[in-house]
Amino acid sequence: MINASAVARESKADRARRFAEIVRRLEKEMPEAKIALNYEDELQLLVSVMLSAQSTDAVVNQVTPALFARYPTAAHYARSTPEILGEQIKRVGLWRAKAKNLHETMTRIARDHGGHLPRKREELCELPGVGWKTAGVVVNHAFGTPALPVDTHVGRVSRRLGLTREEDPRKVEQELSALLPDRLWGRAHQLLIWHGRRTCESRRPHCSRCVVRDLCPRRGVKESD
Ligand code: SF4
Repeated sequence: MINASAVARESKADRARRFAEIVRRLEKEMPEAKIALNYEDELQLLVSVMLSAQSTDAVVNQVTPALFARYPTAAHYARSTPEILGEQIKRVGLWRAKAKNLHETMTRIARDHGGHLPRKREELCELPGVGWKTAGVVVNHAFGTPALPVDTHVGRVSRRLGLTREEDPRKVEQELSALLPDRLWGRAHQLLIWHGRRTCESRRPHCSRCVVRDLCPRRGVKESD
């Protein structure tokens, strides 16, 4: 059983081994862990991830079939307007801002990128409404580019596990990425999200049934940290 003082003294090599073991156990527990958004191509993936901020994946999956049917290419979105797009995505949080960003982003993809997504994470981040985390999810799933984007679950769970003390998602990602080979980054991202949703919940972590409790200095935590 590891504790907080052992984590404080832990070498980087030991922390890397502990993280790899955490990923191995979570993989064994949840081999089915995968992105919960429905999409069929890279453009649909980008749209879904953009819509998912401040909204649940389930709601996004309810909204996107009609959206994807009406707008099969970036040019189709570009020919629409933020107001019309907004009508179609009203069920997702922050829909006005998302409709505006979606229209501008698709206009740029159609105009500047031949209708295809830029393949580099940095280039994707130049598009309106596309942050570092969104771009990481997209390059990872669409192009197989190693990335370990940090959302609220990845951040909370990795801090509880004593893998980082950082709060800033980009710093958390840097620290986590430095501990694992890049072939595991995408799986670590997915598995930590699923673990955060199923077991290490924000307000009520289920430590008694957690498969990595002996590797976690915060087992028994009662509420959101
Ligand atoms: S032991 Fe508890 S706090 Fe630690 S990872 Fe598991 S559920 Fe989260």
